Amino acid sequence: MNTGLVETLQERFHELYGVTDNKVFFAPGRVNLIGEHTDYNGGHVFPCALSVGTYGMISPRNDDKIRMYSVNLPDSGVIDLSLQELCPRRTHKWSQYPEGVFWSLIQKGFSFAHGADLMFAGDVPAGSGLSSSASIEVLTCLMIREVYGFSTLGNVDLALTGQNAENEYCGMQCGIMDQFASAMGKAEHAIYLNTETLEYTLVPIHLGEYELLITNSNVKHSLVSSAYNDRRRECAEALSDLQKVPALAGTGHLCELTGEQFEKYQHAITDPVNRIRAKHAVYENERTIKAVQALQNDDLTAFGRLMNESHISLRDDYEVSCEEIDFLVAETLKMEGVAGSRITGGGFGGCTVSIVRKDQAQKIISAVGENYLNQFGKEAGFYRVMPEDGAHVIFI
Ligand code: ADP
Ligand code: MG
Repeated sequence: MNTGLVETLQERFHELYGVTDNKVFFAPGRVNLIGEHTDYNGGHVFPCALSVGTYGMISPRNDDKIRMYSVNLPDSGVIDLSLQELCPRRTHKWSQYPEGVFWSLIQKGFSFAHGADLMFAGDVPAGSGLSSSASIEVLTCLMIREVYGFSTLGNVDLALTGQNAENEYCGMQCGIMDQFASAMGKAEHAIYLNTETLEYTLVPIHLGEYELLITNSNVKHSLVSSAYNDRRRECAEALSDLQKVPALAGTGHLCELTGEQFEKYQHAITDPVNRIRAKHAVYENERTIKAVQALQNDDLTAFGRLMNESHISLRDDYEVSCEEIDFLVAETLKMEGVAGSRITGGGFGGCTVSIVRKDQAQKIISAVGENYLNQFGKEAGFYRVMPEDGAHVIFI
């Protein structure tokens, strides 16, 4: 737990709202270890919840107002509105995420007899692909469940409500992975998840002498959403070409194919670009399945190798990496004590995730950070993290 941040949260909560409480809520960010761009191709993802995320406090009010404040964004001040004013796309300020959760629950038929004061404080870098937005959504839903006694909401519902808020209220078409990991994560486990059926398995990760190192390139390319739509279209076109092959007529998703089947029928995909996109989807899904097996055998070396192969595929075939990220991965892999390293998240910037030896982590951070600064004139951010529990209440 980030004790300093929680103390600040409690102090600010008391200063602004006049309430003292020993109950603090937390929902983590997430990192996807492998299985990138497989979700909309009917494949699996393999994220884990992190030790960084968003903390929050809530207190009921007597009127119908919702007030929201973020310790991270003091300049935005307290945002307040009545429950009746909730309306999709009302705002693009940060409060759209918690607002969306209230709205989404109202749509589902939950009734709010009164408003609430809410406060947030995060230690996950916002906008870097570690899903600070999902962590705020899941956290808000958890706090609401507690204060309003909506006990029929299970943890999967926290995730679904968060996703619905982001889709409908904020207008962002994200999948379910981020919210699912934030709500359902477990310490020392990663979640092998089919995002379509929500079937999942918690797979133990025995990192032993290793830990997760997340490196933030601090690059945000505007390409992300347009390229995302392009990739989805390219995969859909590849699938439609493959479905014309009689043997594959019933295929619903690219990730239903094995690598062997792909090799046999790939010539049916007429556009060479669509072909390499499909190749990534098929093999990335195979790698994800193999990665789970590697962890079950406690074979971090094999797991790391699959991460490296995933990066190469995302770089060369799916083409969603960028110079800065490729540099970070290459520099990290040059160091001693690195099992694997890859881009994580949607692409075109954001973060890399690596599995590194604990006793080498500081050395890796210094060397890679310095080389990155020399090369791009920009600082990289480093986060030493472990797979942690999903959303929960903390009693201080
Ligand atoms: P990501 O989810 O990858 O971090 P997004 O762009 O989806 O990136 O979400 C980032 C946005 O979430 C921020 O711009 C901000 O609006 C909101 N946000 C995240 N963390 C906080 C926080 N602690 N306080 C207020 N807003 C936050
Ligand atoms: Mg997000």
